[in-house]
Amino acid sequence: MTPEEYRKYAHEMVDWIADYLETVQDLPVRSNVQPGDVINQLPTSAPETGEPFDAIFADFQTKIMPGITHWQHPRFFGFFPANVSEPSMLAEMLVTAMGTNAMLWETSPAATELEERMMQWLARLMQLPETWSGVIQDTASSATFVACLMARERATRGASNEVGLMSSKPLVIYASPESHSSIEKAAKMAGYGRLNVRYTDPSDEGGMDPRSLKRLIKSDRDKGLLPAMIVATVGSTSTGAADPLREIAEIAGAEDLFLHVDAAWAGSAMICPEYRDMLDGVELADSYVFNPHKWMLVNFDCSAHFVRDKAALIRTLSINPAYLQTAAGGQVNDYRDWGIQLGRRFRALKLWFVLRSYGAEAIRDLIRNHVNWAHDLAEHIVVSSGFELVTEPRLAMFTFRPSRTDDSDEATDLLTDQLVAAVNDGGQTYLTRTIIDGRPAIRFQIGQTKTTWEDVQTAWAAVAEMSEKLSG
Ligand code: PLP
Repeated sequence: MTPEEYRKYAHEMVDWIADYLETVQDLPVRSNVQPGDVINQLPTSAPETGEPFDAIFADFQTKIMPGITHWQHPRFFGFFPANVSEPSMLAEMLVTAMGTNAMLWETSPAATELEERMMQWLARLMQLPETWSGVIQDTASSATFVACLMARERATRGASNEVGLMSSKPLVIYASPESHSSIEKAAKMAGYGRLNVRYTDPSDEGGMDPRSLKRLIKSDRDKGLLPAMIVATVGSTSTGAADPLREIAEIAGAEDLFLHVDAAWAGSAMICPEYRDMLDGVELADSYVFNPHKWMLVNFDCSAHFVRDKAALIRTLSINPAYLQTAAGGQVNDYRDWGIQLGRRFRALKLWFVLRSYGAEAIRDLIRNHVNWAHDLAEHIVVSSGFELVTEPRLAMFTFRPSRTDDSDEATDLLTDQLVAAVNDGGQTYLTRTIIDGRPAIRFQIGQTKTTWEDVQTAWAAVAEMSEKLSG
């Protein structure tokens, strides 16, 4: 592609993107293609000779777009949000053009130093200890995996990195019953083993029960196992539940266990002082992660990972082959030693663009609106017939199910499953099913950039109408 062609098509793409974001609300939220529909339209081999860009873009529109689920749709209320914003997209354009690899300070000093500064900005905005060190990981799953490795090294006093786990007692991780599946995945990858993740009993509020945590630790010590780590969750994926962080941190301290806090979704809301209580005690943790790529207008991917002891992190992950040694090594942050990857994207630029373009106050307003609308809709559901709240709103999420007085639990559960499937097929909105206390429930979480209260009402009207129809 010549520079002139690039300029022409880039302008066309930007127009297409601006139109897309202005009209995405007219599309079905979830893609309705069937398995194989997309791949069967694609040639089985790459072309030997280049094709005109017009033809490629035409295929993008006809073959790829139907298979896209629209995460930026203002009525996307499924999973957790992955909201984007124009300043963030502009930063991504620049980063993509430069193809920056931020693996070493020397491979782009500005990328490293901006990352350092952005993590300080986030720490300050969220009232995290200013002595912590921060790094941008790709996802919370990676941050949790890194934390598991740090905990493993601490429990085995560095032996597992040197000689493996053969001579170690089995290591154990403790988590709440609502914790994210990334913990089990990390336990598998880090050599703990899936069966050495212990899930505590739930507390009355749905999070981790500290008494159960203590009992499990004692029982494992009695059996000769090696408790290594606690993962506390603030804002669980199913219901938004938060573990009692301070009590858990005190147990971690008394038992000398590594404490990692996973606030992947809820963490962005900690920019609002009125929600910050959820994180009370976090200053006692060893590691903390939240995802600006979920609810802070920063395009996926961008996961903010803080650690109390930067030296322990680097000791766990550092490698130092000749080809990665530089003159500044040792005096600067070489982020290659702070995560799993060697090569890393320059993600700090989008954080910088977003925080400067919006300012903290506008981001707080966006999050507060989402939280208030979730509470308003939940209140409406409580007084309407035909539905029940399963869990109360926590930040901008609650769960519900249909309820009809004469129905058995089995009939209600069937209706819940039919309802969420039919609503999602309908395209007006997109919701996620979960299981709470053994029974299906439907999550409703609000977090998209362009969502309005009208979008929330339209989505709820679609749910209520479908429920009527299914109830016959
Ligand atoms: N932790 C929690 C509580 C989550 O809800 C999620 C994803 O939704 C994750 C971790 C994993 O996030 P990521 O996709 O960034 O790995």
